[in-house]
Amino acid sequence: MQILDGKSTALAVREELKKAVEDRKSKGQKIPHLVAVLVGNDGGSLTYVGAKVKACKEIGFDSTLIHLSENISEKELLEQVEKLNKDSDVDGFIVQLPLPKHIDEKKITLAIDPKKDVDGFHPNNLGNMVLNLPCFLPATPAGMMELLRRYEVETAGKHCVVIGRSHIVGSPMSILMARNTSPGNATVTLAHSRTKNLKELTLQADIIVSAIGQPNFLTADMVKEGAVVLDVGITRVEDSSKKSGYKLLGDVDFEQVAPKCSFITPVPGGVGPMTIVSLMMNTLKAMELRGDNLSAN
Ligand code: NDP
Repeated sequence: MQILDGKSTALAVREELKKAVEDRKSKGQKIPHLVAVLVGNDGGSLTYVGAKVKACKEIGFDSTLIHLSENISEKELLEQVEKLNKDSDVDGFIVQLPLPKHIDEKKITLAIDPKKDVDGFHPNNLGNMVLNLPCFLPATPAGMMELLRRYEVETAGKHCVVIGRSHIVGSPMSILMARNTSPGNATVTLAHSRTKNLKELTLQADIIVSAIGQPNFLTADMVKEGAVVLDVGITRVEDSSKKSGYKLLGDVDFEQVAPKCSFITPVPGGVGPMTIVSLMMNTLKAMELRGDNLSAN
């Protein structure tokens, strides 16, 4: 069994990005600028956005956090998005989800210029992803593909079961794994809460991606010997022994499942760190390609 170490892989990617920034600086070229827009004070969102902004600063990117009130109107947020679309110093930006209930997330996502949509959530980017055309890939699935690529995990011809069909994780991951690319070329089954025979499916899977958000959901009796398991789930569970007061749990019963696997991602330190570096890779790409067509992924 080998751990797919997202933490050390992400550090390696960060070093590469840092070097790319230093090269640009030494040539007097612009450095990438990522803006993160956060609406309200949701604890999880504050942590995620903070980590993204901090990670950008550490590798030498410019990064700005725009923290807006919970009560901002949809119209005002759309105006903010338009301002960022037009700001030539900003290469890419994200609007952290979820948004307060009075704001239509779809409207906001559609308003973002696809060329600056480094989260890869705009329909233009998602459509181009399906067609295998140049685009920004959503960060979490892109991070998992990068991890598979760097560990040279064979995916061609394998049966991959993705559990969870969200627009940001499960669905795009199922598409990426099925595309005629490397990694990719897998035969994919996309499972969700209405799937009736999940255990039957996972027992046939060479690769399992679990993205549902239920701790210890995937148990050893659901996994065949030698499977590759990618655990996307992150659930905060109270833990008084931790300084923070909570610990993070994945969807996979790691202790029991890991011995059966050829490769597995831990939580924390697996998919999470790769998500952040994917966002930074997209931002560098957005800057390099501004005004041009995007290069193929
Ligand atoms: P969503 O809540 O949007 O989607 C969850 C999916 O899981 C749904 O498709 C749902 O099915 C499915 N599901 C729920 N229960 C079951 C079940 N018992 N059997 C099969 N399928 C089930 O979640 P996200 O995709 O946004 O996130 C999933 C998890 O990943 C969360 O823990 C989140 O915190 C984490 N996450 C981690 C990231 C990282 O960087 N590591 C990044 C993004 C998310 P249905 O559609 O039928 O309701």
